[in-house]
Amino acid sequence: MTTYRLAFVDLSANNVDYITLSWDDVSGFIGGRGLGVALVYRNSASADALAGDNLLCVMTGPLTGSGFPMANRLTFIFISPMTNTIAWANTGGYAGAELRNAGVDGIVVKGVSERPCYLYVSRGVVEVRDASSLWGRGAVDAVMAFRHMHGDCRVLAIGPAGERLVKIATVVNDTGRSSGVRHGVGCVMGSKRLKAIVIRGSPRPEAKPADASRFIQRLKEAQSRIRASHLLNHENGLLAVYGTPIAVEALGSNDAIPVKNYRETTLPEYSRLGGRAMAEGVLINRMTCSYCPVSCRRETASSQAYSFRVEGPDYAQISSLGSNCMVMDLEAISYMNYLCYELGIDPIEAGNALAMLAEASELGYVEEGLRWGDVERMLGLLRAMALREEGLGEVLSYGACRAAEDLGCPELSMSVKGITIQNTDPRVEPAWGLLNAVESFGGAVHIWVYGQLIQSLAKLGVDVRIRDFNDAWEVASESYRKQVEVAVLDSLQVCAFSSYAIPLETLAGALEAMLGRKLDAGQLEYAGLSILEAEKLVNEVRGINWSSPLPRRFLEEEIPSGRHRGRVCELNPLLREYSGVAKHPTPPLEAIPKLL
Ligand code: SF4
Repeated sequence: MTTYRLAFVDLSANNVDYITLSWDDVSGFIGGRGLGVALVYRNSASADALAGDNLLCVMTGPLTGSGFPMANRLTFIFISPMTNTIAWANTGGYAGAELRNAGVDGIVVKGVSERPCYLYVSRGVVEVRDASSLWGRGAVDAVMAFRHMHGDCRVLAIGPAGERLVKIATVVNDTGRSSGVRHGVGCVMGSKRLKAIVIRGSPRPEAKPADASRFIQRLKEAQSRIRASHLLNHENGLLAVYGTPIAVEALGSNDAIPVKNYRETTLPEYSRLGGRAMAEGVLINRMTCSYCPVSCRRETASSQAYSFRVEGPDYAQISSLGSNCMVMDLEAISYMNYLCYELGIDPIEAGNALAMLAEASELGYVEEGLRWGDVERMLGLLRAMALREEGLGEVLSYGACRAAEDLGCPELSMSVKGITIQNTDPRVEPAWGLLNAVESFGGAVHIWVYGQLIQSLAKLGVDVRIRDFNDAWEVASESYRKQVEVAVLDSLQVCAFSSYAIPLETLAGALEAMLGRKLDAGQLEYAGLSILEAEKLVNEVRGINWSSPLPRRFLEEEIPSGRHRGRVCELNPLLREYSGVAKHPTPPLEAIPKLL
């Protein structure tokens, strides 16, 4: 692969053009997230999020679908209707590899279709087709209907929430896989009247390496590193065997889990929500993404109190819909997760918005709001927010940040740049506070870098490569290094969990063999720096500063109990060190074409 073939879809004009970029054009951004960010900077940096000129970039990377282990991601880049910033939504599964096998490396969508439509991608061609008969259907239901129509295909679809321009709407990837798909990307698809992207690739990988024998060498090296990993080994790695819910055990045992809208971090009965409890209860299947030997995805089902069969929930969904709302029942959490998928709303933002509502209700800001752990009420509110029902449904449909403002208690929203943080508490994990403050996308950070988790995993027997760090400079420099690394992975479109086993040198070697060009890890890292800088430049155009304040709770309210009792997040020293550590290269943006 030495070229990058983009389909440029104008829904207003019902027209599709194709653009071929050379590796020389895109090398400064690698592909995937980086190329999407550069395209947005060049074409739609000042666009209104719901206007036709907000480009929706659906990108793969140069290793996607090549057969290289864990190289399977697909990334949406766009201006977010939740945060008004550059935004990123990343998903695994099979759609990324399928898109490349269909002869398209990325799709850039502009405009607004006259009537509901979907994109059908096959044999190198993207067609705009009528989706009127499926408008109004649930996202999972629509995926099944498209499969019925087109046979063996991959589908990215929105539900009723996206159609109604709910700000927290997500995109469902096949029948699940929405845990990283935040920032209201479903709302952007809905604003274009785009119900789905249906992809039917050829059964054989289209991404062929220029130097096949060197590529296979690197591929085998990566496979053996994954086998040697205590986290990723298919048979006994903790992430592989228990999925991301193992983080409940890791963070719960370290008093580092979100509880009651992040008021507390201690949950004595955390193990009821963990990977081991899932394995003994609702788990029916381990799933994987294309070319991944790990299989960390979970499939759950029940026909007892609730009837469902669904992918997930992942750790972030368990901590948002579960511990943060005081729901201690994996069956109920799995069902709520299923409902979020079918309605097409982001389960993490929805859970955190409900946690905010429960606290607001307890403090008297809302009458007839929500009690902690009231699953039946939560189910009703999830439906109400997805359908924008009058009252709390409409209020919550904007996400926790705007909802808390509307309810008169903005201090109860645990959001940064308008989107809630996830996973753990910045008072316990200073690096988590810093990353949420400086990431251009806002609070939905997915960089698992922080020391407490590392220590916790080590206690569970995992030999992790990232060491713990102590002073402000170490936190800042390690956080920045990790940001750069993840920007590279998201642009190569390799799963971020690979960083626990596969070094950048191996990835650079694989890319070198794929392209048949000299390339090293230093060049990838430099591209990572440029990508972070380009993201900041998009935000600058929109008047958004490089750092954002954290919610007051994390900065001023001491953790009330547990081993971290009394701690707050000391953000300012971290920001000072970070601004000294961060580099500011000039991204080669002029190499990226203007499309509008
Ligand atoms: S580790 Fe998990 S999320 Fe990552 S590619 Fe493998 S199965 Fe998918």
